[in-house]
Amino acid sequence: MNKKIWLSPPHITGEEQKYIQEAFASNWIAPIGPNVDAFEKAICTYTKSKNCTVLSSGTAAIHLALLLLGIQENDEVICPTFTFSATINPVCYLKAKPVFVDSEKDTLNISPTMLEKTIETQIANGKKPKAILLVHIYGMPAKITEIQAIAAKYKIPIIEDAADTLGATYKKQYVGTFGEIGIYSFNGNKIITTSGGGALISKDKKHTEKAKFLATQARDKAVHYQHSEIGYNYRMSNILAGIGRGQLEVLENRIKARRANFAYYKKALSSINEITFTEEQKDSYSNRWLTTIQTDSYERREKIRLLLQKENIESRPLWKPMHLQPVFKNYTAYTNGTAEDLFACGLCLPSGSNLSNVDLKRITNCIKKAF
Ligand SMILES: *Cc1c(COP(=O)(O)O)cnc(C)c1O
Repeated sequence: MNKKIWLSPPHITGEEQKYIQEAFASNWIAPIGPNVDAFEKAICTYTKSKNCTVLSSGTAAIHLALLLLGIQENDEVICPTFTFSATINPVCYLKAKPVFVDSEKDTLNISPTMLEKTIETQIANGKKPKAILLVHIYGMPAKITEIQAIAAKYKIPIIEDAADTLGATYKKQYVGTFGEIGIYSFNGNKIITTSGGGALISKDKKHTEKAKFLATQARDKAVHYQHSEIGYNYRMSNILAGIGRGQLEVLENRIKARRANFAYYKKALSSINEITFTEEQKDSYSNRWLTTIQTDSYERREKIRLLLQKENIESRPLWKPMHLQPVFKNYTAYTNGTAEDLFACGLCLPSGSNLSNVDLKRITNCIKKAF
């Protein structure tokens, strides 16, 4: 059997060990400590954001972001249908209601036109959305300027789910820093990892401070344990923050490697008209977390996927839209068929920053066999 090629495996340097050892040597084996503080500072420095709170996951960060904006039972939150379920689950933790909006083909992200129509229709129905959960999917920035203008027009705050888009920019500004609150993920499959973890960033210190408070069981200031609010246990461990510090130091290299994967795929498959790629739009710079292709039919996509699987190469269909998920099927959805087409004909290719040219050649040769 050929060596297994994974979709997006962790890529560790060894530098992380230094910070993990410091945690052990100083006995900061806790969800508090010098690595936590330093990792938060490093994220602020890198993304040029003012405030950061690191957490146990990106999902926890989305949950807290919704709480910080005061989202409550029966409130409506606009979400793209073309995303991972982790974007939507926290909306449901709060018994709020996601309103799904379809994507545009350019970026695979929420369609600004559909977004505005949705807001207008919901307002006409007496249900003004309380927030927009803006996702930048697969490392590709959404059309932020247009979306910000719509959000400002209707005075609806934006939470940016930049879970898989750390290091991507729009008009040279880091994605995640545009909204009232932004979140990142450091799950094992993301561009950098702490094995599991997340971050919440904001221009507004009140948000990151409140996030810290809620993430540590909402302890009031008192010598005893005193609580006036429901809290959570969502802080990042000082050991994992050590991994994060080492990983953040090589983020630029990771982006370079993933962008090089995309360039390789595009060149190697350029003669096949039935395969298309998602291109960067004017002003946008993708971290190319995952290279995705679209094919001319479901059958062709499956043919490619199964050929890869036979060669021990992992690939995955693009996201199954949220409005088609059994668990979310009863929520309102504004669709135009784009997300459904992406799901039917699209495929995520192996995109790890540790792929070799030999691996890439093996993958593209295998794909070519489908034609
Ligand atoms: C990974 C991911 C999340 C969840 O982050 P976790 O750290 O795994 O909880 C949320 N949204 C998107 C778009 C993601 O890709």
